[in-house]
Amino acid sequence: MPHSPAEDDFTPDRLVDLAERLTRAEAETGSLPGIVQLGHPVLRARALDYSGQLGDELLGRLLATMRKVMHAAPGVGLAAPQLGLPLRLAVMEDLFPVDPATAEARGRTPLEYFAAVNPGYSAVGARTSSHFEGCLSFAGFTAVVERPEEIEARYTGPDGTGVVRSLRGWPARIFQHEADHLDGTVYIDRAVSRSLCTSEAYAARWQEPRPDAAARGLGFALRVAEDDAGAS
Ligand code: ZN
Repeated sequence: MPHSPAEDDFTPDRLVDLAERLTRAEAETGSLPGIVQLGHPVLRARALDYSGQLGDELLGRLLATMRKVMHAAPGVGLAAPQLGLPLRLAVMEDLFPVDPATAEARGRTPLEYFAAVNPGYSAVGARTSSHFEGCLSFAGFTAVVERPEEIEARYTGPDGTGVVRSLRGWPARIFQHEADHLDGTVYIDRAVSRSLCTSEAYAARWQEPRPDAAARGLGFALRVAEDDAGAS
């Protein structure tokens, strides 16, 4: 199990200081905070539950900075540990235009911006899908990950409201990816290793709505489970 960063190391004062520095980085240095890359222990630790350590005003500014970093990357989700801050916070938004065939094959429907405090999820049904996925903390690579097609997503909004919602397709994939970050899990832990591609190789050869050709060409089994008795 991933360790949790010692509460002693990340006192509320230290968390506030870290968050303040992240929110001021652009004004002070002219560039947004950098995204932590694989190999940094913060990506492998269980992030601390958010219990108001930052206060509402700073939390609001931090989430705005996270959204800005996500847009600039560009990406469809960002978890606080990806900025070096070990708190269970994530932002998500996917309003990128996608061609209809890809949208259909991946269940990629628009996901309006939201921030999730202390997110968690559970699979609904046995159905899974397998698609190429990437991570801003593992820049330059992509690999196929089998994930539950539908989930029940649970989180608290920044205003303290509890939310339970059903997500399916690509939005469900995004939510699982971000919530996993907060447990110290990166998509490569769940990926089919033979599917790992550089972004260049993926763009040149395998950029199709479904990864069937990649499975044949690279020699990996494309795992998907159907609902109920068909699941394996
Ligand atoms: Zn990621």
